[in-house]
Amino acid sequence: MTKENCKGRVIGSGLRVYPETPQAYHLIREFISKEKMESFTHQLQEEKELKAVIRGMPSDMPPQEIIEVLLDVGITVNDCHVMLNRKTGLPMPLFLLSLPKNNANRNVYNITELCYMKVIIEILNKKNGPSQCFRCQGFFHSSSFCTRNPQCVKCGKPHLTRDCVKPRDTEATCCLCQGNHPANYTGCSRNPLNKPPPKPKS
Ligand SMILES: [Zn+2]
Ligand SMILES: [Zn+2]
Ligand SMILES: [Zn+2]
Repeated sequence: MTKENCKGRVIGSGLRVYPETPQAYHLIREFISKEKMESFTHQLQEEKELKAVIRGMPSDMPPQEIIEVLLDVGITVNDCHVMLNRKTGLPMPLFLLSLPKNNANRNVYNITELCYMKVIIEILNKKNGPSQCFRCQGFFHSSSFCTRNPQCVKCGKPHLTRDCVKPRDTEATCCLCQGNHPANYTGCSRNPLNKPPPKPKS
């Protein structure tokens, strides 16, 4: 199909394919969606976005103004919005930036002043562990590239989380370990964060 060499490996009941070029990657992705196959694919590195957090600006700063001053210094921004506190829902003095991944935009982390204010721009905190798919609860891929059967984050049954009918007062069931927590609990024994580090080779 791709007219190229392509390595593959059988993993459980699945097949993992390693296309060598972006063309092959796109051909295989098209084939998968045309044939409605159950799959997930990783995003190409170059299609991924940089994510950064700006600290030091008041939360009522209009995001459009931030986008414009960044453009003045050669940084192109896809999206900028104020971050909300998860518990209170109130805006915090933090702005989340999404930028296309390119060399000019990597300079965003060196900026120390914006709109005459001292700021710190840092890479979005990755401490929350590896990315987890909203659709199948698997790790290291995003739901936009996943056609695997859905598993609910709350009750572990085979449906999308938004279709869940589990009452609030019943315990969650993790579809990964069958424990009584939601599947996105970072303490889950199946979360790659909690895997013991590989033994050093002697
Ligand atoms: Zn998935
Ligand atoms: Zn459910
Ligand atoms: Zn679990």
